[in-house]
Amino acid sequence: MSRICVGVDFGGTSIKFGTVDDSNRRSETFQLDTPRDDGAEPVIAQIVRGVERSIAEAGVSREKVIGVGIGSPGPLDLGKGVIISLPNVPGMENVPLRDEVAKRVDLPTTLENDANAAAYGEFIAGAGRDTYEMVMLTLGTGVGSGVVHGGEIIHGAHGIGGEAGHLIVDPGGRPCGCGQRGCVEQYCSATFLARYTAERIRKQGEATSLAEVLDANGRLTAKDILEARNAGDALAEEVWEECCFHLAIACVSICRLLDPDCIVLAGGLTNAGEDLLEPVRRHASEQNWTLCEQKTEIRIATLGADAGAVGAAGVAWRVLGDSTNGAVRTGEC
Ligand SMILES: [Zn+2]
Repeated sequence: MSRICVGVDFGGTSIKFGTVDDSNRRSETFQLDTPRDDGAEPVIAQIVRGVERSIAEAGVSREKVIGVGIGSPGPLDLGKGVIISLPNVPGMENVPLRDEVAKRVDLPTTLENDANAAAYGEFIAGAGRDTYEMVMLTLGTGVGSGVVHGGEIIHGAHGIGGEAGHLIVDPGGRPCGCGQRGCVEQYCSATFLARYTAERIRKQGEATSLAEVLDANGRLTAKDILEARNAGDALAEEVWEECCFHLAIACVSICRLLDPDCIVLAGGLTNAGEDLLEPVRRHASEQNWTLCEQKTEIRIATLGADAGAVGAAGVAWRVLGDSTNGAVRTGEC
């Protein structure tokens, strides 16, 4: 019978659970609500409940369970396995989540940043499963990212490496919450794309079909913009191209630094499919150097919302297991 690791994708509104076995086969996932009113204790209890349910559903004996991996938003102290704070969940300051869960389920446990865990999920079982070097950009509320190099997640010297969402793609450009200007996140997240487009319509009164949508709903979504763009709206086309252009600059910079096998795009904006991929690939091709053929592929993620739980389990395998989980390079680069 297969051995398994349990993966936990801890979020501000829900906690997702799943397992990955020693052949990187993943189970169905399920989710439980995140208790938000009474601090850390109910959260830890809910995680323990989900882990026990995962093991029961996997139908394996206890000794076949190698450990538990948790992915969590931060900031985290990865060395100590501690959540330093969680802005969206009150009472989660300085919580030793890794060791508390380990003690209660009596299994070794790992803690990883949630964006890194999601990237690792795509690396072992999704769009990057045939690769060795992979970077993922998650285009959602912000732009999260994770870098897998030689099968390992990059953390950097101070635990803040691989933050590609804050690569500067427009020097002196839009101010970012991080304190820099011109970050990828301000141009390529679904939220900021919609926000800046709405601002532009309100301030400049440009003729666009999106003005009606904005009036009716009080806000825009990336989906509204894409629909208007595909119906021939000039402003929507301009802002969509601008988003893809800046994403392409980020991809080219990532290629210069890391030369990955692939860059995986994930998150809400990737629902656009080819409407996102084609312009990003086109702009990347135009911006890229000509010193040699560009081999890095830009792909769309395949695991969707399961990536975090799968990746958290994968991290547990990587840290706790003795298997060869994680891709092994076999081809020429
Ligand atoms: Zn930033």
